[in-house]
Amino acid sequence: MPSRAHLARLIADARRMVVFTGAGISTESGIPDFRSPGGVWSRMKPIYFQDFVASEERRREAWERAFGGRAGWVGREPNAGHHAVARLVASGKCAAVITQNVDNLHQASGVPADRIIELHGNASYATCLECGERHELDELKTLYEATGDLPACRSCSGIVKTATISFGQAMPAEPMARAEAETLACDLFLVLGSSLVVYPAAGFPVLAKKNGAMLAIVNREPTDIDPYADLVLHDEIGPAMSEATSANS
Ligand SMILES: [Zn+2]
Repeated sequence: MPSRAHLARLIADARRMVVFTGAGISTESGIPDFRSPGGVWSRMKPIYFQDFVASEERRREAWERAFGGRAGWVGREPNAGHHAVARLVASGKCAAVITQNVDNLHQASGVPADRIIELHGNASYATCLECGERHELDELKTLYEATGDLPACRSCSGIVKTATISFGQAMPAEPMARAEAETLACDLFLVLGSSLVVYPAAGFPVLAKKNGAMLAIVNREPTDIDPYADLVLHDEIGPAMSEATSANS
């Protein structure tokens, strides 16, 4: 029978693990799963990257959303699941956290930024599309509210955008390459709260398994990858991970 004790054993036996997280770990922090009914994309239309770049009107719409916090992506607190992952990283057992989330909650739970591989970017800050310089949302918002001018780069005046990977934008090459390298180097690949339907990200657990790693999946709903896994728990992530890591911390 799949159990939290079995998950604890897999974690105890691992020497180098990778944790892969999706929306399900953050719904327990109150962040909506954007693909679910009632999620962000059922309430408002996504703005494609090409339209953001081409149209001042679309940019204004995107910034109004970001400054209004209407997507509900950021500004929440990490939960027991994030904290359990942070303990695994701090113990040296978990080499990398690959995430589909843009909510910054792994960083907020204390995982060093260089251990986090963000496949879809990060919604908690912005970058210049020309020179890459980082801009903080609070500063951009203050300026926008004072002047009404669209955010522009303080260094090169280029277009500034939240640091997420938008619809119509290519998957980021460097995080994808790092995610693949970590996947091939691990002996346990643990999926937390991803339905594993979005490719190419969903290919990583299968790649890990084919490379000889153990594969464990904790997700409330069944996934297409479940048949490949050594352990599948249809369970709440916070409670399951708290129990499974208490023996290891
Ligand atoms: Zn710039």
